[in-house]
Amino acid sequence: MADLLGFVGVGRMGGPMASRLLDAGYRLCVYDVSDEATAPLVARGAELAASPAEVASTAETVFISLPTPDVVREVTLGSNGGLINGSKVRTIIDLSTTGPGVATEVAGKLAERKIALVDSPVSGGVTGAKAGTLAVMVSCPMPTYQKLEPVLKVFGKLFHAGEKPGLAQTAKLANNLLAATALVATSEAMAMGVKAGLDAKVLIDIINASSGRNSASQDKFPRAILPRTFDFGFATGLSYKDVRLCVEEAEAMGVPMVVGGAVREMLAVTRARFGAASDFTHIAKVLEEWAGVEIKG
Ligand code: NAD
Repeated sequence: MADLLGFVGVGRMGGPMASRLLDAGYRLCVYDVSDEATAPLVARGAELAASPAEVASTAETVFISLPTPDVVREVTLGSNGGLINGSKVRTIIDLSTTGPGVATEVAGKLAERKIALVDSPVSGGVTGAKAGTLAVMVSCPMPTYQKLEPVLKVFGKLFHAGEKPGLAQTAKLANNLLAATALVATSEAMAMGVKAGLDAKVLIDIINASSGRNSASQDKFPRAILPRTFDFGFATGLSYKDVRLCVEEAEAMGVPMVVGGAVREMLAVTRARFGAASDFTHIAKVLEEWAGVEIKG
């Protein structure tokens, strides 16, 4: 019989990742506070649990993909229904972005119950989650990494970030700081260019053939901003959380982040103006409002 895996948090990222595990022949036991999120997986044969603890009493290996550090703490360590109370679980793989502090704290508490936490944040968005082309950053002891390799490969390309809990989270925060910075800076450059009279599509094409090209100019602008869909698939609130965690971790280590601080504030402004649930491509809309232009292609 196929291996049974647990999965808690099957939203924008977790949903398609869980679906790929079903495609690969694994059996799944799932839990999410949203019935809408679990329904497509249950329709494909996944077992539905009533709590994280029930998932952890069913499967030895449990994935989580959750929005914030607080939710990760509650789902893993919660005294009533948390994964820690499950009778079967031995390994929890955290695919969320929570920062190294939370990974270290949760790993320590789970270790007291002989449960291993593998922090394994991912990058590549909803498109990468669907296609199995994510960058999967993993920190755990090498023997555990080798054991998990076949299942993690279902999600994309693996990188062993190190043995210490939290190292993969640090790599992920560094990446997300850069991704958000590119989006903020490209929005500023595009607003200026359009206000001066350049066609937005022409300017993006010039940038993408020149040295200013980046993940926002090559992907987010053509896909979600120029067509005015603002549906890239990553929430402003989550991007704000990532950059805030990054700047806080850096400052705690004595690494000042001047640009990072400015990017965090731009995300705070976007969140205040358009809400935490808005797509983070709304950063460009803030610039549009300030400049009095529309960046459309
Ligand atoms: P999401 O909000 O779409 O999904 C989170 C899921 O968790 C939702 O289905 C929600 O109902 C569920 N949930 C919330 N509280 C819960 C609880 N207490 N118990 C069980 N389920 C609960 O978010 P997402 O975009 O899928 O992001 C998930 C994680 O992946 C985040 O940490 C995010 O930073 C990270 N991430 C997102 C992207 C992206 O492009 N969306 C890319 C890489 C990493």
